[in-house]
Order: sequence, then C-alpha cells, then structure tokens
Amino acid sequence: MDDSPRPHWLAVAVPTPAHSGLGEPLTYRADAPLPPGSIVRVPLGSREVLGVVWGAAEPPSADLRAAVRPLAGAFEGLAPLADDWRRLIEFTARYYQRALGEVALAALPPQLRTLSGAQMARRLKRQAAAPPSPAAETTETIALSADQVVATARIEHENGPFLLFGATGSGKTEVYMQAVERLLAREATAQALVLVPEINLTPQLEARFAERFGAHTIVSLHSGLTPPQRLAAWLAAHAGRARIVLGTRVAVLASLPRLRLIVVDEEHDPSYKQQEGARYSARDLAVYRGRLLGAKVILGSATPSLESWHASTPETEDGPGRYLRLAMPRRIGAGADGGLPKVRRVDMSRQPRGTLIAAPLLAAIGERVARGEQALLLLNRRGYAPVLHCADCGWKSECPHCSAYRVFHKVDRTLRCHHCGFTQRVPRACPACGNLDIAPLGRGTEQLEERLAELLADVRRPDGAPARIARIDADSTRGKGQLESQLAQVHAGAVDVLVGTQMIAKGHDFRRVTLVAAVNPDGALFSSDFRAPERLFALLMQAAGRAGRDAAASAGSEMWVQTHHPAHPLYAALKTHDYPGFAARQLDERAQAGLPPFSHLALLRAEARSQEAAQAFLSALARRAQDALARDPALAAALPHVTWYPAVPLAVQRVAGIERAQMLLESPARAALQRVLAACLPLLHALRAEPGHRGIVRWAVDVDPLAL
Ligand code: ADP
Ligand code: ZN
Ligand code: ZN
Repeated sequence: MDDSPRPHWLAVAVPTPAHSGLGEPLTYRADAPLPPGSIVRVPLGSREVLGVVWGAAEPPSADLRAAVRPLAGAFEGLAPLADDWRRLIEFTARYYQRALGEVALAALPPQLRTLSGAQMARRLKRQAAAPPSPAAETTETIALSADQVVATARIEHENGPFLLFGATGSGKTEVYMQAVERLLAREATAQALVLVPEINLTPQLEARFAERFGAHTIVSLHSGLTPPQRLAAWLAAHAGRARIVLGTRVAVLASLPRLRLIVVDEEHDPSYKQQEGARYSARDLAVYRGRLLGAKVILGSATPSLESWHASTPETEDGPGRYLRLAMPRRIGAGADGGLPKVRRVDMSRQPRGTLIAAPLLAAIGERVARGEQALLLLNRRGYAPVLHCADCGWKSECPHCSAYRVFHKVDRTLRCHHCGFTQRVPRACPACGNLDIAPLGRGTEQLEERLAELLADVRRPDGAPARIARIDADSTRGKGQLESQLAQVHAGAVDVLVGTQMIAKGHDFRRVTLVAAVNPDGALFSSDFRAPERLFALLMQAAGRAGRDAAASAGSEMWVQTHHPAHPLYAALKTHDYPGFAARQLDERAQAGLPPFSHLALLRAEARSQEAAQAFLSALARRAQDALARDPALAAALPHVTWYPAVPLAVQRVAGIERAQMLLESPARAALQRVLAACLPLLHALRAEPGHRGIVRWAVDVDPLAL
C-alpha cells in the first residue's frame, strides 16, 4: 500500500518549555537510522527546533503512528555527540531536576539553532580546511619550585581528583600548565578543559596559555563571545581540533570527545554555580565528568570551598579523603615567611566616630603613593550611599517595588534600586515632609573615591604629580570593554589608588600593588547566611593575594582590615594566613548545626503576587509530597531522612512587585533528598495548574544552593 521506506523511530531530546512537565525525549520518525548524539531539527508545536537524538524509541502503537511527526532535517557531516556527553547531560538534568532537552540544548551554542543544513555544511568545510592543531611544543622550560615539582609529579602519577591548595602567587597556574603540557605531549589527540570563574579573568589566563602552547591550539568558551565566535569555538572543541578549551562555567558542558584533563581554577568561587534554569555547579559537574571519563581533575584554590576541603581530609584524620590534597603554601621566590603580606587590623571602635579611613592607614597609603607603589581599597558596596535619609521625619529611600532601599548615586544624582533597576532623580526635598536637608546614610565606592581625593590632596607621586584615584565596580564597567581598559590602566601604572568592589579582589596579577585594605568588611561576620564567613574569608585572602605579587616588593606588602571586632577569630586566622585553622573551626560549627558538607540542601522557591500565595503553594506541595511519598512503598523509606522546613520569605522578599518565598529541604543522605525532589517535580507541575494556585508566577528548584 505504501512503498515509503520502513520508518525508524527516534527518541529526540527537545527544548520543552521549562515548566511544561515534559522532561523526557519525544518520539520522531526518520527514514534512515541516525546514531544517538546526532543533532537534528524537528517540529515542536508550530515551531521547528533543534534536538539531539537520544536513542531508538519504542515503535508507537498502530493508532498513534500517524501522529508521530518526521524529522525536519539533520546536520550532515557533524559528528554525533559522544555517549559520555549524553551521560553528563542526563546526570545534570536528573540531579538538578530539570528537563533533559532543556539541559542538552542549553549546552549547545545558540547559533546552531538558526543555521540551515547547507550553512552548517559550508562551515564544516571551511573548518576542515584549517590545519589540525599539532601537539604543543614548549618553547621555554622554567625551573619549578620544590612544591611545584611535587604537585606536578603526583598529578602525573596518581588518579586524583586533586585539590591543589596553593597560596596566591604560589604558582598554581604553572602547575596547571605543566599538567596540560605533559598530557598533550603524551597523548596525540587528548584535550584539556580549564575552567575559570569569570570572563574578565580569561584574557590574562588565555595570554599565558597562548604564549606557552601557541594560540592555535586554544579556544575560549564563555558568554562574552558573539554567537559566531561561540559556534566556531564549540565546533573546534567538538571536532577535537582545539586541544585546550578555556572557559567559564558553561564550558563544563561543552562537547569534548577527547577530554583527558579538567582544571577548575579558584574552585571556591560562587560564579561556578548557575543561578537560573538548571542551577548546576560547574565545579561539581567537572568532578562528575572526570570520573565518568577517567579524566584527571584538578581543583585549585588558596581558599578552597569547605566542601572540597572536607572531601580532601588527609588520610590521617577521618579516613582517606575523596580528593588528594596537594599543598603549596609558599609564594614563588619568597623567603621563609612565605612571602604573604603582613595583615594589620585597625580597631575602628578606637577611631573618632564616622572615620572613613583610619589615620595610620591613610598615612600608609600616602607613603606607598609617594614611593610609586599602588594601593587597592576594597568596599563591597557600589554607589555613593546605600540609603538616603530624612532626619526630621525618618523617610528613607525605599524602592516602591522591592523590599530594599534605593542606592544614592551621586555621579548622575539618581536613586537606583539594585534589585529591580527602578531609577529616579534624587528629590530636592524629603518626599514625605519637604525637609530640604536629606542626607546619605552609610558609604559606597563612589563616596570612598570622592573622599580619598580630599584626604590624599597633599600626597605627591615620585614625579611630583598628585595621586591618581580610580574606581572599578559594576557601575564603572557597564560598557563593553570598559573593565578591560580600566584594568589595563592599573597595570600600566596610570592609577595610584584603586577603589572597588570584590571585582578588583579576584585573580588579577597587579604587579605594583603593595597595600590592600578592606574598608568595612564587618557586615558579613553577623550575616544570617551560613556561608557568609567562608565567602568573607576567601575574599579577604584573595584581596591580600593582590598585594606584593612582585617578589621584590613582597617584603613590605600589607593587608589592612578596618574592623570593630579586631579579635574576631576570622580576622585572627587571616592575620596568620591560616586557612586550615579557619576551615577547621567553620567545619566544627557546620557539623554541630548539621549544615553542608555534613548535610545536603535543596530549596523550593515560589514567586507570586502575594507572600501568602507563594507560601501557600509551597506548604501545599509539602503536604501533598509527604502524603504521596508515604503511600509509595519504594519511596517511603526516603521520607524519614529528609527534613522539611516551613515556607519563609526570602531575605529580600519582594522584587519588582513580586513576592518570593522558599522552603528548605535538608538531608544527611544525598540519595534520599534526590528521591524526594524527583517525586516533588510532577506534583509541582500539577499544583501549579490548579485554580487555587493561579497566582504563582514561577517556581524553581535549587539543589545544593549557595545562598539561603
Ligand atoms: P597562582 O596561580 O598560584 O596565583 P601563578 O601561577 O600566577 O600563581 O604564579 C605567580 C607568579 O609566579 C607568576 O608571575 C608566574 O609566572 C611566576 N611563576 C610561577 N612559577 C614559577 C617558577 N617555577 N619560577 C619562576 N616564576 C614562576
Ligand atoms: Zn522628611
Ligand atoms: Zn526595586
């Protein structure tokens, strides 16, 4: 009756709408078999979308057959995605509770969606004409430090995963490069993936790698690339032509058919956690991917995450660790003191009230400038002042749409909400009582920059010119290329005192900075977020790491901390650069409180027009999930291992007029938590569709959340 070829049924992962509840691949018809991993175009509703063949599908029953739609096309000449890549995507989707197709498609370069088969064929042809990257040839050989020799040898001869616990400036990057070099020399086609937390740190690292291995062996993968650049980089990695891929967290899901080594630099950095969609941790996925492939994994940091530190407990303590810890405590070229800056605490309770910069710190900054050195001042708050305030009636610059204050920006005389972006001109008088004398409360980087100019007015540089002060924060670097050009100015010595937020504390290799100061870091000591001390300690250690990177200058380098709590154990540990001591105390507290890494957390979040609606949704979900789990013999066993906390508002509970609530789930057993979450997912979809919960704007699941 029908002489068309026997149909083949394919299971294809497609980007189903995030909350449709359809997580599994859909069935399509093809005239010829296609191997799993093939990238195809398929119809979905009224659209045509990109999909990935996941395998053969069960033949549909006779009455459904006619409804199964045919493939719209395939990219011929594009090699299928590897099995291990599909395993990685499956794990990511399952673990972070998202649809398979969503995760798979998010891992592909966006431009792939818009290319026709013919356009792709042309591109592949052009690429094939490009010469394949030869194995790296190293031009120079540098004499490794004793610590580097040991670390490099252990990485070569043992399996890992490795936690490279190396002080700032101890030469971790050199160890990564050694590991890459040995791998590329040993295996003619092997690939290495090097992850960094932020785009603005890739150019520096890229330059170092390019210098060592030749630019043609390396591609970068991050969200700052144009769509064509990203596609080209992705194709080079997918074809195995790029031997080294440098990238931010998205790169952990790149197609790398010959991946043999993964490096995660600054592994403690919160940027590795995706904060929307599939909220994955690129660091954790790197470890998973390494195990899947039998590839080596190196996690590097001067202040490892407490999770990684705990996992690398030396064998002498709690039994063998999962990670092998390699320590490099000394800076390159340093003497017996390790070469780290001297930490000085200034007791601000002994300073005159309202002091911005204590007199001894100010004097020290002046001396540095006079010697032609640079100082770096850290204040984690942008804008001029966090609040405007009327002393007569108590009015404050609240955002009408958020439960937050609008920040005063003096440069353009605006009040700006840092949560929803709502911006207005600063009122001339108090909007509540008409008082003309409304005043800023607290201080931000703009004010620090302005006041420093006054305070350092008499200071002269060696050439007799006045001190030059610059500011780097999210406001000063909004335009494309602005951050790069500002950093270049600092490197070139065109700036004497640099003021900024945490943006300036990370990774930069400033050679002339000999003094770093944290102006007002106390806030994080008493935060309700249990990770706040860990983040503060890492930030201050990183900031200290910017001082004295030039061995010649390191002897006199200093890190100053202005605090009302100089005796706080966190600052005491900082004083002695004692990360292990700090970590041991934090881990004790975490163990007693049953917090990670001694338990596993997940957050269920809901957003609605009213806080009651958001909380009611979460509470209804909890009741229903507990009922459903209790009735299912296979799942009931997991239930007693999971603690459900009540629904509560988020710290900033209202943003852009939307109320936000969350519910915490906690369990000492990861598997039990995973089973409970998986059971919650269909219930979430169903509940959302019920008339009683129409007010829910969106919901999300965050597994291993970073902030509570
Ligand atoms: P980290 O990544 O640990 O902060 P880097 O790898 O950036 O440290 O090294 C700090 C500085 O020391 C860099 O300028 C680097 O070129 C230099 N360096 C690293 N290893 C050596 C070595 N074995 N001999 C001389 N200089 C080195
Ligand atoms: Zn007033
Ligand atoms: Zn707002």
